Amino acid sequence: MKTTCPYCGVGCGVEIKAPDQLVSGDLQHPANFGRLCVKGSALGETLSHEGRLLWPQIHGERVSMDEALDHVAQGLRDIIDKHGPQAVAFYGSGQLLTEDYYTANKLMKGFIGAANIDTNSRLCMASAVVGYKRAFGADAVPCCYEDIEQADMVVLVGSNAAWAHPVAWQRLVQAKTDRPEMQLVVIDPRRTASCDIADLHLALQPGSDSALFAGLLNWLNENEAVDETMLPHLANVETTLEACKAWDLATVAVACQLSEHAILSFWQRFAAQPRVLTLWCMGINQSQTGSDNNNAIINAHLLSGKIGYAGAGPFSLTGQPNAMGGREVGGLANQLAAHMGFSAVEVDRVSRFWNSPHVARQPGLTAVNLFNAINRGEVKAVWIMGTNPAVSMPEGNRVAQALARCELVVVSEVSARSDTADLADVLLPAQGWGEKNGTVTNSERRISRQRSFIAPAGEAKPDWWLLAQVAQRLGYTEAFAWQHPSEIFAEHAALSGFENHGRRAFDISALAHITREQYDQLAPVQWPLNDRAPTGTARLFADRRFFHVDGKARLLPPAIPVKTLTSSHYPLLMNTGRIRDQWHTMTRTGNVPRLMQHYDEPFVALHPHDAAAHGLSQGDLTRVQSALGWWSGRVVIDSGLMRGQLFIPMHWTRQFSAQANVDGLVAAHCCPDSGQPALKQTAV
Ligand code: SF4
Repeated sequence: MKTTCPYCGVGCGVEIKAPDQLVSGDLQHPANFGRLCVKGSALGETLSHEGRLLWPQIHGERVSMDEALDHVAQGLRDIIDKHGPQAVAFYGSGQLLTEDYYTANKLMKGFIGAANIDTNSRLCMASAVVGYKRAFGADAVPCCYEDIEQADMVVLVGSNAAWAHPVAWQRLVQAKTDRPEMQLVVIDPRRTASCDIADLHLALQPGSDSALFAGLLNWLNENEAVDETMLPHLANVETTLEACKAWDLATVAVACQLSEHAILSFWQRFAAQPRVLTLWCMGINQSQTGSDNNNAIINAHLLSGKIGYAGAGPFSLTGQPNAMGGREVGGLANQLAAHMGFSAVEVDRVSRFWNSPHVARQPGLTAVNLFNAINRGEVKAVWIMGTNPAVSMPEGNRVAQALARCELVVVSEVSARSDTADLADVLLPAQGWGEKNGTVTNSERRISRQRSFIAPAGEAKPDWWLLAQVAQRLGYTEAFAWQHPSEIFAEHAALSGFENHGRRAFDISALAHITREQYDQLAPVQWPLNDRAPTGTARLFADRRFFHVDGKARLLPPAIPVKTLTSSHYPLLMNTGRIRDQWHTMTRTGNVPRLMQHYDEPFVALHPHDAAAHGLSQGDLTRVQSALGWWSGRVVIDSGLMRGQLFIPMHWTRQFSAQANVDGLVAAHCCPDSGQPALKQTAV
């Protein structure tokens, strides 16, 4: 049985061999060709029912599934009747399958009639979505993983791929082993495992990435490194270049706290290599200038023409297995469905397709605003699916407070206990990996199947089924009458092609009539997938035609870097992120003993001099304080950190200890364009 790993955005193919459910990499899957990382290879050890939510509960008491679904539907109906549809919200996850996401979005935006559905992908990729839409006119990632092998130079920005996207990293290591002349530049304030084979590491000041890339754009322009053939395909060139003039080498060196020599070395390499692939992740996106950071990188690829061919282009790595699928169906509050927005034409089009007069007409609340609205009592019912916002959101303590106040909190989950599940009025048991059946889309636009190969635990149901059952109880019988996820997928595919005519990048209309058998056999494939591209599309923009109405891409003027101010009270700068062997809040990977061997307790990594200055030694218990609260864990001395900076992993929750949740220390400052929280820089 072939399926897909449920962890990161590499989206590795996995093969399961009965009868013991032995897990191995799928040799044919183009994302991994048989490779798996340590998390993926331990998937078979996560299948036990220990800690699983096995049956529905209302206020902690076991009830029948019918009672639970009736209760949810009645609760939503009462609140909608009394306060209107805006008093209801859904909060999803990049762990959901596309079919789950589609159903949630259709129910919320199409039938309840408010757009208050957002997702933990807001914390992950929202800034990249804005960057792509502004530059290309569509949320369209131009590249594919094969470009790693094709590139002359890979630039890794704000990404510790060696730990967070290990199989993509393995491909990179192999490519560099095969072709040692291939260059790797790592741009990251920390010296991480991803620097081990780097030709150049730029340990820049946190938050100064856009300055580095604005300087690159200026330098390309001043050093005849502009691709003249690209200019007819670009708009905003003059304005952007004029704005970038301020970023000369000396100014960039001050902003980034790097030597001019190191900066120039990067810029010269970028210009000299014909095939440059830039990969980035949360260090770029989770910033108050996250969207502008994305455009600063994309600008450099557009102006130098390094896009649209093998080995070249800007390529954001999604953190989660189906962050991209959520983007496709409209899982973000500012999208409608199938890459459409809220223009009158698009609302009308989706209304006709869904045969619903109640489609939301304006964007809804993004994650931080959504939980703030719950806290203010404006949103009175929330349905949280497959995620743990009470610990993963910035100011997690306030999120927990908001949920405690909310009139109706529904949580569909695989785990019986989590900081969020503990606050639920209604708990609905959801099927987990190995039980559920559907599709996910990885970072390179590749749709793959997650297939069920074991019986569901207890009374666990697919998320789409739970949603459709509630929708039917709300009276939306016909629109949610699916019997199988293949029917949802076919509808989603049909909507992607509905009155599209090549204007929207997301188009899988070739699958609009997929049968259940074809769905079961569906091989991994990259969109667009339509009449013009019947076998899918590896790379976009080979023809230099973009999705803006005039067919041109846009350059965007650079952002002014936002500096997090330290003070005598809070003199250190805290960064957060993943470690190699854990996933999110550890509900799955935390149950695997061998994955706990890497790090088994919350820790703070800091530079030896900072440790000495605070009288700390390796293994000491210490306390880290921000303006919002304090955290406690072990000291790890790490000379890869710059002085004055700390790193704390984001995995441990209050289930481990009351002071283990690091996101409780982080203020909910967001990028104003994407609403993505700046989780990477907190004064402590
Ligand atoms: Fe799973 Fe990501 Fe590891 Fe691949 S790299 S096996 S998708 S966690």
